[in-house]
Amino acid sequence: MQWFGPTWNAPICNSQDKAATPVGWACAACGIEIKGGDRGFLIPHMDHDNTDSKPWHLRCLLNAVGVAELIAEAATKRTPAEDETHEPPPAEEPLRDEDDG
Ligand SMILES: [Zn+2]
Repeated sequence: MQWFGPTWNAPICNSQDKAATPVGWACAACGIEIKGGDRGFLIPHMDHDNTDSKPWHLRCLLNAVGVAELIAEAATKRTPAEDETHEPPPAEEPLRDEDDG
């Protein structure tokens, strides 16, 4: 798997796997054209008669695997010292059937 765009300093962002940004190609996830400066991956897709790599925006891939929110949260996480006064968010109400009770 190759990556493109400005580095986001992840371990995968090494120089030998960097690809040219596929400007003008449609993102395989959202269909929006890749623009210069976008970050993402080239991921092999198996089609009927060939295997081609298609671009995915970084954000689209993170959303697809369900970790985008975790990464965004980690990026804004406070240091332990700052967290000393941090109250945890209130627990969500458990889902219940309306017929209960
Ligand atoms: Zn996309």
